[in-house]
Amino acid sequence: ALPDAAGDAQVRADDRAHVFHSWSAQALIDPLPVATGEGSTFWDYQGNAYLDFSSQLVNLNLGHQHPDLVAAIQQQAGRLATIQPSMASDVRGELARRIAEVAPGDLDKVFFTNGGADANEYAVRMARQVTGRRKVLSMYRSYHGSTATAISLTGDPRRWANEPSDGSVAHFFGPYEYRSAWGSTSPEEETARALAHLEQVIVLEGASTIAAIIIETVVGTNGVLVPPPGYLQGVRELADRYGIVYIADEVMVGFGRIGEWFAVNHFGVTPDLITFAKGVNSGYVPLGGVVISQRIAAHFDTVAFPGGLTYSGHPLACAAGVATFEVFERDGILERVRDLGERVVAPRLAELQAKHPSVGDVRGLGLFWAIELVKDRETREPLVPFNASGAAAAPMAAFAAACKQNGVSPFVHFNRTHVAPPLVITEDELVRGLDVIDEALTVADGYTV
Ligand code: PLP
Repeated sequence: ALPDAAGDAQVRADDRAHVFHSWSAQALIDPLPVATGEGSTFWDYQGNAYLDFSSQLVNLNLGHQHPDLVAAIQQQAGRLATIQPSMASDVRGELARRIAEVAPGDLDKVFFTNGGADANEYAVRMARQVTGRRKVLSMYRSYHGSTATAISLTGDPRRWANEPSDGSVAHFFGPYEYRSAWGSTSPEEETARALAHLEQVIVLEGASTIAAIIIETVVGTNGVLVPPPGYLQGVRELADRYGIVYIADEVMVGFGRIGEWFAVNHFGVTPDLITFAKGVNSGYVPLGGVVISQRIAAHFDTVAFPGGLTYSGHPLACAAGVATFEVFERDGILERVRDLGERVVAPRLAELQAKHPSVGDVRGLGLFWAIELVKDRETREPLVPFNASGAAAAPMAAFAAACKQNGVSPFVHFNRTHVAPPLVITEDELVRGLDVIDEALTVADGYTV
């Protein structure tokens, strides 16, 4: 449907009457009807354009309506729209092979799921089967999905209303240089202290009870926390020393977000399992999965894996995944992400930090950045309290409204905004979006001391 006001009214009426939305008090929301999209932009039914600075939920890596992905899905739909998982499919096999080719070390088999949460569920299930242990360690300040074990792994307030769900999870602190749990004053110190803390947690929780440690390679929704040098290597060593499976959750940062196929490639570490979703096919058809090391895959050579999904490796989703590989390679997507991140985003955010009293910290890699807002740069008091909503979150709401008024749809979480546009964003669009954020930060400045 082309944008028009009548369409807007109908979409709103149906949505409000019958659609039950995620994570929301249903009577308190007002979802924006979106009519169409192209590249980094989407349009509402009033004809307003929004530059998407959060790639929807950081999944739309190749932008809206990419012609190659649309064509691949259409072609596959015309040939074989679905096939059950115990049969072999050409596109499923090709996508698994291409993922194995870019995965680190000996990770060379793929179990496909419907999305990110179930990828983590199955990764944990594999670790529990292989080790014969039950407990899983995950970080505070993390998001791993909303299903039973994934929400228990999650280290943010979304877990609270869902407890107890999977009781065999313990949380630990990860590195966070701007708000170090240990008062560290350098990246080296943060790495050393975070690793010493993790080892203490392993010992006190009982190494012989721990199946897995799961870590977002770069923490996503909870702050674009880039691990300091040596941290992930240290996690790898601890996992080896105590016989624990290391799971890298790359649902948000895999497939180009930081300028690598897998973010662990940037840090030079090889986990035992990598989970992915979102960017694998930009979410055009739901798809996720687990990339599995030979050692773990070998365990299931003669022992059946106790798990499965009707839509594991759905051909429409896999066709879009294969097309994603072709576009990334043909258009040099990884190279352009690194280039735009280093040449355009990093210097501009440094400038915003110097200019705006509300900007406490900026950090990131590739096309994945956080601007952390504070009331007071000296004390680092957040601009809004942890988990703020309603009136307490008003300063961030005012910032977001200023962005939207000027045609940018921002990602806002607690006291942060993230810069996470589609990887195909043009340089002009990127600069325009950053200009809008610059202006909106003036609104945030109004709330500083
Ligand atoms: N893991 C991470 C790091 C995520 O960012 C997300 C979603 O935002 C998930 C897991 C859950 O993925 P899904 O919503 O596809 O279940």
